[in-house]
Parts: sequence; C-alpha cells; structure tokens
Amino acid sequence: MNVIDRFERPLRSLRISVTDRCNLRCQYCMPETDYVWLPRESLLTFEEITTLVDLFTAAGVDRVRLTGGEPLLRRNLPDLIEMLAARPSIRDLALTTNGVLLANQADALRAAGLGRITISLDTLRADRFQTLTRFDALPAVMAGIDAARRAFDSVKLDTVVIRGGNDDELVPLLDYARSIDAEIRFIEYMDVGGATRWSMDEVVPRAEMLARIEAHYGPVEALKEMSSAPAERYQLPDGTVFGVIASTTEPFCASCDRSRLTADGLWLLCLYARGGLDLRRPLRRGASPEELLNLIATVWTMRADRGAEERLGSPERAALIPVTALKKDSHLEMHTRGG
Ligand code: SAM
Ligand code: SF4
Ligand code: SF4
Repeated sequence: MNVIDRFERPLRSLRISVTDRCNLRCQYCMPETDYVWLPRESLLTFEEITTLVDLFTAAGVDRVRLTGGEPLLRRNLPDLIEMLAARPSIRDLALTTNGVLLANQADALRAAGLGRITISLDTLRADRFQTLTRFDALPAVMAGIDAARRAFDSVKLDTVVIRGGNDDELVPLLDYARSIDAEIRFIEYMDVGGATRWSMDEVVPRAEMLARIEAHYGPVEALKEMSSAPAERYQLPDGTVFGVIASTTEPFCASCDRSRLTADGLWLLCLYARGGLDLRRPLRRGASPEELLNLIATVWTMRADRGAEERLGSPERAALIPVTALKKDSHLEMHTRGG
C-alpha cells in the first residue's frame, strides 16, 4: 500500500523515539530545570514497536530512524535493532545519538544490524560542551565517535548552529569531520517545542553558513540530488561533502515524507504538530492489524501539515510553545518527539 497525503507526499520515513529520557540538557532542546516524564508503563515494548513498524511498512515506510531523548538509555536497545533489522521491508535502519554512551555500545549496535549512525556534535571545546549541554561529557562523546568509526563503515555528525553559541566552530568542525572521514550536517536552530530560549537572532541562516565556509575554503558547489532528505549537500573544493539543514529559513515541507512515533505510541505527522494519533491505546485494546493499518492510512491521507513553512509567515516569531504548555503536555517537547 502506498498512501499519499493531501499534498501528494508519500509516507516513507518513520522516526521512532525509544525513550524521552536524556543524559544531557542541550540548551536548544532541554534548557529548563524540571521535566515531566512519560509514565514508564506507557512506554511501548519492543514487541509493540515492531508490531507498529510492520503496519507502517505496509503503508509505505522503508526508512526507520531510532532516536529519543537519548536512545542509548533504553535498556537492551540492540534487541530492538535485531528485530527491526530482520525486516526486509526496512531499507534503511539508522540511529541518532548524542554519543555519550556510544563507546560501549557501538559494536553491539552494529552486530545487531544497525545500518547507519548519526552522532550529534555541537562543539570541539570541552568548556563549551559543558555550557551547551550542562554536562562535562565531550571526552565520552569523542570516544563514542571513535568506537562508531571502528564499528561502522562511516558515521555522520549533526551540529545545531547557534549564533553566539558555536557558530565560530563551522570550520573547525568541518575540518574535524574531514579528518575522520565523516559527513557533517549543520542544522539551523529551530523554534520547536522545548526550544524555550529560541530567538531568530540566534539562527544562522544557511546562506550565511555557506558564505562563511566559502570565505575559508573557497567556492562551494551544491550537489544536485533527487531526494526527500532534508539536508542540502555541498562540496568543498577538495571534494569534502557536507550538508546544511535549513529547516528554519528555507523549510522543505513540500517533500516531507516523514512522521514520528513517540516512546508511548503517539504518532505525529509533523514536528510542529500540536497533537497526534494515539496508537498505543488501540494496540493494547487488541485492535486487529487491518483496523490499525486502516487508521494509519486514513490519517495520513488527511495530512496537510507543513509546520515549518507556516512558521515562516508568523510575525514577531518567538519560541513556539510556552513552558507552561510544555509542562502540561510533554508530547510537545522535542526530546519526546525525537527531533
Ligand atoms: N539525543 C539524541 C541526539 O541529541 O542526537 C537524539 C534526539 S535529539 C532530539 C535529535 C536531534 O534533534 C539532535 O541532532 C539535536 O541536535 C536536534 N535538535 C534538538 N533541538 C533542536 C533545535 N531546537 N533545533 C534544531 N535541532 C534540534
Ligand atoms: Fe540534547 Fe538530544 Fe538530549 Fe535533546 S535529546 S537534550 S538534543 S542530547
Ligand atoms: Fe515535515 Fe513538518 Fe518538518 Fe515540514 S515542519 S518538514 S511538514 S515535519
């Protein structure tokens, strides 16, 4: 079955958050002191996740990315990866992690069948890492990256660029990525739920990032690719490839084929969606696979979300969701949605 939404976008990609807990407190994602966590009994079991994944793949999904919170905090994660890797309908099985716990887990993740790994890395400076995340964990992340390089053919790095925060590290981070043969992607700071300190002044637009990179390395060539991936990819004069995800200033909703499943089974059609479809309840009440698949297909067919594009038009743009609303509904948080 290939379902398409109201803008003729297929359902191809699913990001699954396996936990809302995190061992960092990145200032662009979890800047507050207190958080309301999902009740443990509400978390989907691995069997429940794979049951839902089978329905999603029946509806057209062939790319799955595990995320969180911090996915490596979920106990026995390799077991879930093994279950997913055994499904031929999943063409691409990937994971996004902050890397803190990766050094001890990279081999097991690879052995379980994980295809690709992306590690978030916003700075190469230990003092700044602490300022940005509230934890002194850069050495652990670097050890995690080393372990992942040994275990996987290649790794990717993701960097959220914040003006006055880490935007002076575009070149050092690119040089580092090049030195370890990793592709780095610079992400514009987004005003998603949870980014309660967001302001447009702190966003470095893609055009500015590219201008700064060109000023250092020389002309950058845009790679022409047919893809629904959010990153535009570029090449330095020496052939080094990197990406920029311009979700804030030049959103790509028109080709968005991704949706998100929270750790407790809420299916979200857009990163900016105020609500979603609770799949846990019908699943636990024993709904048949046909019933659930029908629900998924019907809801996707009605999808008209283009959250980031709509945000472009909002006057005096500020943080999307106030802290009071986040405290009442943690499903609005980026760390619950999985990024
Ligand atoms: N904890 C893992 C990590 O940090 O890689 C996975 C979950 S995290 C929510 C997924 C991605 O969302 C990370 O790459 C993170 O940098 C990104 N992210 C979180 N808040 C963001 C924001 N306000 N703007 C842009 N990207 C953000
Ligand atoms: Fe940082 Fe990821 Fe944790 Fe958010 S979920 S605070 S981005 S490590
Ligand atoms: Fe897709 Fe929503 Fe992001 Fe637009 S804002 S790219 S529709 S998830």
